[in-house]
Amino acid sequence: MLPKYSFIVPIYNEEETMYEMYRRISMVMDQMDGPVELCLVNDGSRDRSLQIMRELHQKDSRVVYLSLARNFGHQIAVTAGLNFVRGKVVVILDADLQDPPELIPDMVELWQQGYEIIYAQRTKRRKEGWFKRLTAYTFYRILKNLADVDIPTDTGDFCLLDRKVVDVLNSMPERNRYIRGLRSWIGFNQTAIKFERDPRFAGDVKYTFRKSFALAINGLVSFSKVPLRLSTYLGLLAAVASLLMSLLVLYWRIFVPHSPLTGITIVLMAIFFLSAVQLVSIGILGEYIGRIYEEVKQRPLYTLSEVAGFQDKKY
Ligand code: UDP
Ligand code: MG
Repeated sequence: MLPKYSFIVPIYNEEETMYEMYRRISMVMDQMDGPVELCLVNDGSRDRSLQIMRELHQKDSRVVYLSLARNFGHQIAVTAGLNFVRGKVVVILDADLQDPPELIPDMVELWQQGYEIIYAQRTKRRKEGWFKRLTAYTFYRILKNLADVDIPTDTGDFCLLDRKVVDVLNSMPERNRYIRGLRSWIGFNQTAIKFERDPRFAGDVKYTFRKSFALAINGLVSFSKVPLRLSTYLGLLAAVASLLMSLLVLYWRIFVPHSPLTGITIVLMAIFFLSAVQLVSIGILGEYIGRIYEEVKQRPLYTLSEVAGFQDKKY
């Protein structure tokens, strides 16, 4: 018998949270109305996470796991999980218990009412630093305004997906997997469920500033062409500005004797301004070209070093 529910948990150096995560999730698994598999995806952890996975799998055959051959990043880890799980209903949640597993039964209830995507939307973040809150708040609003699809604000990857949606996600070949964007792009019947985000149970944040920033740029570039247009606008603005400046400088040169503004200062300012505009535009172009390059290379999304439990069907 195949599982009815699959829970996917990406794991990167989470030895401190795993036992508690398993305890809380297994309480929820016991309440479900059908067989459940808990799919742990090791994203190249360097601590004991993989050993703990093996141990949990030994103890409880509902626990299955994948181990990526190196750290590929959260979005890819989730993608790998989505490729392997077999449930009719799939739930994605973080290992650090910031996404409360106790919310899953409420999500399932909405699924039974006919929704195919139920995403959790945080109304509050408890005990996260002001910098993270501010940057996340601003980013989600910028993204909402610029993206081609309506990506709801303040949603992470915590969500419930119907099998139909998982199949569509799996059939999308793109390498830059900004899952919350793809999830919106797909369509289907979607709804939000609100929750307050708890602080991390233990351990440090695994999304460093660099990873979060990369994720943000990825989200923007994958779902919007506005930045490209922005460089056109910047170019136009620079053109208008330089025309005005040239006229001014000419005017000063001809009609205002000994004007100090015609000297080196204004030349330098013009050089700085124009080169900034050029570099920013090239940078924006680069972001898009880099992604085209990634797509063209057609490398697999991840490499696996260990897979366990997916062949067993005893529950
Ligand atoms: N994670 C991962 N690979 C990474 C970084 C994070 O699989 O390279 C996992 C991590 O183990 C956790 C989830 O992604 O289960 C969210 O990470 P974290 O809690 O550090 O981020 P935040 O809560 O800030 O979104
Ligand atoms: Mg977290």
